[in-house]
Amino acid sequence: MLRKLDYGEADRIFTLLTSTHGKVGAIAKGVRRPSSKLGPSLELYGHVDVLLAKGRGELDVVAQVQRVPGYRIEGDVERMAHAALIAELAERVCEDRHPVEGVYELAVTAMAELGRETQPRRASAWFLMSALDLLGYAPQLISCASCESPLPAQPAAFSPEAGGLLCDRCAMPSMPLVPLAAIKVLRLMASGDLETYRRLKLDEALIGSIEGVLQSQLEHHLDRRLKSLAFLHEMRM
Ligand SMILES: [Zn+2]
Repeated sequence: MLRKLDYGEADRIFTLLTSTHGKVGAIAKGVRRPSSKLGPSLELYGHVDVLLAKGRGELDVVAQVQRVPGYRIEGDVERMAHAALIAELAERVCEDRHPVEGVYELAVTAMAELGRETQPRRASAWFLMSALDLLGYAPQLISCASCESPLPAQPAAFSPEAGGLLCDRCAMPSMPLVPLAAIKVLRLMASGDLETYRRLKLDEALIGSIEGVLQSQLEHHLDRRLKSLAFLHEMRM
């Protein structure tokens, strides 16, 4: 469930991310009435099993809905803000009624990880790396993104334009350096080792550096800025 919009007196229109049909718009009739059977299951960013009927216009009609058991994030402001990022990105890359390979699975996994993780930013950063990988924008972290020379074990500048870390010779002196600890975590994330990643100790500064790299890489490759990222930054001030 990516987005919801109140409609008419008691209806609500949802944008759903589906496994087989990509992004689908559907209307849930009478869902805002307290007596509605559909209402309790249709939570924003929730994972649901839904039966859709053909509507008269472009929208499908929600006939039946059941929540898929799992963690709930509704009501948790910080988790909802991170979930908004997952939803915004999924919505951006998906077209109407056409699945994009891997996006549904990534969104479902990322929402579940966000629910179970005690540190939501950790789950959110993992999602960013996975999304970059899926979209073909994974940052180059082992060798210099400009001259391909292997990077020594030291802090390095990150350039979203070049698509990765830069060696001393290719970096401009004015570019801020990514700490070595953050580079190591980024490499672990790129390897896809979620089990180890979950056990790492990530303090605020470290996770901030990791987010900085992943967010700048993502925003460089999208034509518009992500609204949910701007909101996450505001929340932290
Ligand atoms: Zn270089």
